[in-house]
Amino acid sequence: MAFRKAAKGVALVGGGALATFYGLSRLSEYRRNQARLVHVEAAEQVQMTFEDELPSRQVQLAALRSTEEFDVLIIGGGATGSGCALDAVTRNLKTALVERNDFSSGTSSRSTKLIHGGVRYLQKAIMKLDYEQYMMVKEALHERSNLLDIAPHLSAPLPIMLPVYKWWQLPYYWAGIKIYDLVAGSQCLKSSYVLSKAKALELFPMLKKDKLVGAIVYYDGQHNDARMNLAIALTAARYGAAIANYTEVVYLLKKADPQTDRERVCGARCRDQITGNEFDVRAKCVINATGPFTDSVRKMDDRRNPDICQPSAGVHIVIPGYFSPDNMGLLDPATSDGRVIFFLPWEKMTIAGTTDTPTDVTAHPIPVEEDINFILTEVRNYLSPDVEVRRGDVLAAWSGIRPLVTDPSSKDTQSICRNHIVNISDTGLVTIAGGKWTTYRLMAEETLDGAIKEHKLPGGASRTVGLMLEGAKDWTPTMYVRLVQDYGLEIEVAQHLASTYGGRAFEVAKMAQVTGKRWPIVGKRLVSEFPYIESEVLYAIKEYACTAIDVIARRTRLGFLNVQAADEALPRVVEIMGKQLRWSEQKKRVIHLSEELAAAKQFLCHEMGYKARSEQLTDMSEIALTPSEVDRYKKRFHKFDKENKGFITTVNVQQVLESISIQIDENTLHEILNEVDLNKNGQVELNEFLQLMSAVQKGHVSDSRLAILMKTVEENLEQRDPVSVDRSGGGV
Ligand SMILES: Cc1cc2nc3c(=O)[nH]c(=O)nc-3n(C[C@H](O)[C@H](O)[C@H](O)COP(=O)(O)OP(=O)(O)OC[C@H]3O[C@@H](n4cnc5c(N)ncnc54)[C@H](O)[C@@H]3O)c2cc1C
Repeated sequence: MAFRKAAKGVALVGGGALATFYGLSRLSEYRRNQARLVHVEAAEQVQMTFEDELPSRQVQLAALRSTEEFDVLIIGGGATGSGCALDAVTRNLKTALVERNDFSSGTSSRSTKLIHGGVRYLQKAIMKLDYEQYMMVKEALHERSNLLDIAPHLSAPLPIMLPVYKWWQLPYYWAGIKIYDLVAGSQCLKSSYVLSKAKALELFPMLKKDKLVGAIVYYDGQHNDARMNLAIALTAARYGAAIANYTEVVYLLKKADPQTDRERVCGARCRDQITGNEFDVRAKCVINATGPFTDSVRKMDDRRNPDICQPSAGVHIVIPGYFSPDNMGLLDPATSDGRVIFFLPWEKMTIAGTTDTPTDVTAHPIPVEEDINFILTEVRNYLSPDVEVRRGDVLAAWSGIRPLVTDPSSKDTQSICRNHIVNISDTGLVTIAGGKWTTYRLMAEETLDGAIKEHKLPGGASRTVGLMLEGAKDWTPTMYVRLVQDYGLEIEVAQHLASTYGGRAFEVAKMAQVTGKRWPIVGKRLVSEFPYIESEVLYAIKEYACTAIDVIARRTRLGFLNVQAADEALPRVVEIMGKQLRWSEQKKRVIHLSEELAAAKQFLCHEMGYKARSEQLTDMSEIALTPSEVDRYKKRFHKFDKENKGFITTVNVQQVLESISIQIDENTLHEILNEVDLNKNGQVELNEFLQLMSAVQKGHVSDSRLAILMKTVEENLEQRDPVSVDRSGGGV
């Protein structure tokens, strides 16, 4: 019955809707392709101002202050604002952009990392015969293709598997996904295909076998979102835009239009967040591209403006890479709350998300335990029981705020706009809001078209289709080989540099220090298990990183991948930055470095899920161990606490390790104990150790260094214990 219903649905909806939509869109696709060719030619004509060195942040700030009047001033350095800056400057408009935190510190670094049209949106478009929604998917698929073309080092097609557990779903999903391919037309990344159960399990061995019928695999794009955002901003700077991070708009400047006598926005009062200095930036047109903060700037324009942003938070978790195949994602099309959950390989880890919860707008969203557990529960539904994902496997978690908007010019002010809106206020403030990462370029093009028309700016047509982003030039899939050969970098490091900086990876390699080892010749890692090297910290400063958080969260992605590893890398990051930026000469060194370190730790603790992770241990008041387990762990504990004090310190552990010729430096030992030292008194009490072992058994904590170390030492000591005469078979 269900099958018949579904099959009928597929035939009717899939066939009828496809014919209608597809026919209607053929013409627009033809037009789009023609326009694309014109765009690509146009892009080739734009002149780059700074081919080699980028101007420093100080130079950029000086330009913002001293330029008499810009054509456009963009507020917000997320994907949308940076896209607007690139679109404007390549139309030869005198362009400025200010961002109050770091480029991409908002939603744009906290996405699912997909460059997609949205299979789910297409399903809705077809089911509801909604042509507008269909066109939204089509546009996004066009943008997907362009983004993969203009930053091939930062993005790639990713196969995504849709597991099927009921027979009738197979033709239903297959038809839907085939329509997705058809809508992409010539820009389809690779054709989707159906897999038998056996083949699906071969490609995704972690998948739950029970009741699996087969699977469908389709392709979308995936990228490093924060680096992509930065690449857009840096490209705008290379073409001559004056861009500055840590520069906040505190209010808008206005003046009366001499012709109409009406007030018009003519710039903004900005505050340099690092020095606290304030200055004015004047511009013919001001663009509000502040994502979830869109209403705060709209209210700077007119306090009476109604709110148009309905913020919704989405949480993601990161778990080790071994939970997903290297190059295959998974889509859960219908979670228990009706949403879609993605389970994707990313930067050699696995990310899973996302949720959708109404929230207040904040610059520092925190991933809450409830959301983390919701994602874990959903993910477990799809994975084989023998690869159980435990709470302790969560290495990082973050939350991002969706800037969903209602259109202020629409009569129905309650309905959330599915796409983006460009709104021009009576005072001439241009607001671009909503949309998604994938469509940032199109949003920017439409915004600048609107701005040019409204403010009669001297810009031509957009030139950003086909315009290569920072690092894309000179990148090839095999350029990492030259990095290994020319500089003596580890292969993994070379691959990482190539896929992060593209052609500019050679500049990072040139700055890398000699290791003094036979191999690798250069490139000292920040932490052993990630390919990030110290020279990236120096290069990050050239890319306008001002704080340690900029480096661990957005220039590298360490904070998003593993909070604990990021925490360990922090002291060195702060040290390198402090020296290069001469923090010691600006402020008292000790105070500044420790403040910087504390701020970055705070960020990891709250925004990257470190607190939630460590609370797993703290919250467990009860110790769920059997009496024999308690005895076993007490015995293990007393191997270190020889004097029966009831606690162990780094000195005790050091002594035992020395007795079996293992060396661990004091700082590392201190970190290892500190993870378990819940009351932070510098020692680990027996109770804390038992809590740890209980958490390890329950799966709340995994890869605890102290637990593994103490077990290994115990085994080692037992092997060394003298073998009794009886058991050795000797004796008299
Ligand atoms: C959980 C989640 C997952 C998502 N996944 C995807 C996905 O996989 N694919 C996709 O295409 N889209 C995705 N999206 C949507 C996409 O991430 C967003 O649409 C996009 O990043 C929004 O970019 P933005 O530039 O508009 O906003 P933001 O990135 O938030 O940038 C706005 C900037 O404005 C700055 N700002 C605010 N006020 C001021 C001021 N007064 N002065 C100066 N600067 C100011 C902020 O500091 C901020 O950096 C996702 C969204 C969420 C929440």
